[in-house]
Amino acid sequence: MTDHSSNVFYRVHGRLLPVVDHAEGCWLVDTNGKRYLDASGGPVVVNLGYGVDSLIEAVCGQMKKCYYAHPTMFTNAPVEDLARKLASHAPSGISRFYFLTTGSEAIEASIKLARQIHIAYGRPEKFRLISRWKSYHGLSLGALSVTGRTGFRKPFAPMLMSVDHIAPPYCLRCFYGLTYPECNLQCARALEEVILNVGPETVSAFIAETVSGATIAAVPPPPGYWPLVRSICDRYHVLLILDEVMVGMGRTGRWFACEHYDLIPDIIALGKGISGGSLPLSAVGLQEKHYQQLDGGFTHGGTFSHHPVTASAGLATIRVLEDQDLVCRANKMGAILGNLLNSALKDSPFVAEVRGIGLLWGVELVQDKESLRPFPRALKVAERLWDHLFEQGIILYKSTSLAGNDGDALVIAPPFTIQESDMEVIVETLAKGINEVLGKPG
Ligand code: PLP
Repeated sequence: MTDHSSNVFYRVHGRLLPVVDHAEGCWLVDTNGKRYLDASGGPVVVNLGYGVDSLIEAVCGQMKKCYYAHPTMFTNAPVEDLARKLASHAPSGISRFYFLTTGSEAIEASIKLARQIHIAYGRPEKFRLISRWKSYHGLSLGALSVTGRTGFRKPFAPMLMSVDHIAPPYCLRCFYGLTYPECNLQCARALEEVILNVGPETVSAFIAETVSGATIAAVPPPPGYWPLVRSICDRYHVLLILDEVMVGMGRTGRWFACEHYDLIPDIIALGKGISGGSLPLSAVGLQEKHYQQLDGGFTHGGTFSHHPVTASAGLATIRVLEDQDLVCRANKMGAILGNLLNSALKDSPFVAEVRGIGLLWGVELVQDKESLRPFPRALKVAERLWDHLFEQGIILYKSTSLAGNDGDALVIAPPFTIQESDMEVIVETLAKGINEVLGKPG
């Protein structure tokens, strides 16, 4: 355990963190020898599991060969090969990739890129961004401006850019109080309303997570949502930026989540699992037609962009995904996990919904199943349940404030290499934990 004499400014306050020693497969081991089954791949990032030899060897090999070359002076083989690989799996037309380090950076670059594309097309008055409530796009001020998670925005509200947020496609808690399909996809139609209100000639891009990830815990949109949004964007020359930082790179059982919806974005942001969590790598993918129009002119950069070592991690990750057919496996194991979760939890009085896609599942917890009344935030139900599971060596990811400021959920998103027997342990421990912790709230 860490102690208070530490000089580290930790991310969490008021708790002693165990010290990780090593990791193998889906397991982390701390310095006391305690083992933790990582059922969320950290924050949905460790897609291949830990200790993947070919990944480690690729990174070490590139470190030895050359660990830095300035991206305005040199290109390098890992970056070239990674871009080619990504293009071979990406949605039709997405053929150019700009490499950065974090998901937040990929979002910053995406929203700046949209603006520059409009300038290149001779539409310099387009600058506005539209995004969704209950979304997360990153911590930097631009990414936070498009983020729709109010708790994260609040301390910085005066510093954020003005962005219009619309309702997310969150049927369980529809912002309009409607029911699908009678709702006629009001949440998608709201995009057109905002575009018309603010003036279509000023709107640059709509940015959204293809499948809502961390904030509302793995909510896929209803059928018809994305085709309608895509057609609205096209009607008003509004670029569609898909944030696939969490849901891209196989997590949903397809290389990219947008494939489930036959959806082709103008710009796609990738991160997290792109390097299997081994090194900080992110990417922005761009439609070739826009790239041609830009004529290479993107005012952007970064010391660590197009980095040979992080790119070698990305390339090795894709090779493992391909060689072991892990995207297919994510799909197959995801279906099994969904069945396990549903049969163990759907009748629980504390579970409002089990939902998900591929190997990304969410369990939303409520005080009253009938009315969907959430637990008050002050009870910190997600945190207490998460702590209880962590104590027992099961790591999940928590979501809070799903219903206004209240509400709790847990996300289950293990590495694609997870075994069925491990998934059974995760689900059993979760089901027991829900009864033990939520049975006596307060
Ligand atoms: N976009 C989405 C959908 C995310 O889930 C995250 C992180 O959780 C980000 C962007 C930001 O990525 P990073 O934490 O790597 O900056």
